[in-house]
Amino acid sequence: MKTAFITGITGQDGIYLTRLLMDKNYTIHGLVRKLPNNELITMHPFLKNVKFYTGDITDTATVFKLIAEIQPDEIYNLAAMSHVKASFNNPLYTADADALGIVRILEAVKTLKLHQKTKIYQALSSELFGKCEFSPQNEKTPFNPQNPYAIAKLYSYWMSKNYRDAYGMFIANGILYNHESPIRGEDYVTRKITLSVAKIKHGIQDTIYLGNLDVMRDWGFAGDYVEAMWKMLQLEHPEDFVIATGIIHSVRQFVEQSFQQVGITIEWHGTGIKEIGIDKNTGTTLVKIDPQFFRPIDVDILVGDATKAERILDWTPKTAFSELIKIMVESDLQYIKKLK
Ligand code: NAP
Ligand code: GDP
Repeated sequence: MKTAFITGITGQDGIYLTRLLMDKNYTIHGLVRKLPNNELITMHPFLKNVKFYTGDITDTATVFKLIAEIQPDEIYNLAAMSHVKASFNNPLYTADADALGIVRILEAVKTLKLHQKTKIYQALSSELFGKCEFSPQNEKTPFNPQNPYAIAKLYSYWMSKNYRDAYGMFIANGILYNHESPIRGEDYVTRKITLSVAKIKHGIQDTIYLGNLDVMRDWGFAGDYVEAMWKMLQLEHPEDFVIATGIIHSVRQFVEQSFQQVGITIEWHGTGIKEIGIDKNTGTTLVKIDPQFFRPIDVDILVGDATKAERILDWTPKTAFSELIKIMVESDLQYIKKLK
């Protein structure tokens, strides 16, 4: 039976990964800032079988102590300040958690001489590519990060690679494109849209306020992506992988398809911050632009090429964009119905 240590275990990916590893009979230890509440355990009963430790990825002593105690076969470092817009307001904290977090793990594994035993997964993002001249991006595409989140993650990428090259440690960097699910944080554009569509359908919200509708992203399903993380750590030698669907859609398309799930067709009128989305049948305004949701600098388009993952990991995404939207809208409709 293998032992895994997951940081960020109660985040979106942590929960999907825990379920996957439980099915594979792992013993799971998780770092949390706050112990999960009853509501979270009721939603995800398998969390009852996790051994939780409270602590923070920015606290070196905790990270060392836990790795020494657990002696994990696999570490998945998912803990991060993961919101791009928030990273502009918290650049120093973002660096501490997202850049230095993995270094604490790497130093602990090295100092404790666990590097023959412990394999490490570092969670990286397509945001590393940022304003990129090449599409789609793969493992060889140059990085050009555009925000404090991506810049911090880029430091973590190079440190992981450096420990791998210098000390022969097993560290896999997963460069994952946006992946979503019904438990995606409510501040991310996909979940914000599906939750708002559900609230509008149930008559408890009138309008969704959004930022840039023309941004294009390569959106996949979190449940598919955690499988790639696990597969990376089953290899004999560590490598870096882009994990993506290779298909892009705009925020605007995400809005249109989400409303279609509840039988509403959106028609767009106006331009710039005056643009609105109306219900074609009733003429009611359902979507408005609010400049507070624009970023100081944004990345217009990101699309990944996961050919290497398909070849070496035998990984391909299973969930199509339309299916992802359906899962998210249906889940939010149920969620809002229960709240009413
Ligand atoms: P998430 O839902 O925001 O989860 C992040 C987790 O990290 C949360 O459990 C959070 O705990 C924890 N955390 C934050 N700061 C911490 C700290 N200082 N110490 C300990 N724990 C801390 O993110 P996710 O979507 O699961 O993403 C997982 C990882 O993949 C992140 O590193 C993210 O940057 C990266 N990633 C995600 C995507 C994506 O599309 N989802 C794409 C590329 C890369 P609290 O509950 O206490 O806040
Ligand atoms: P990110 O790609 O990791 O930053 O994930 P997000 O879901 O936060 O944002 C994806 C894209 O949607 C970004 O380019 C945002 O500028 C754009 N976007 C447009 N309106 C909104 C909004 O209201 N909230 C968020 N979070 N993003 C928005």
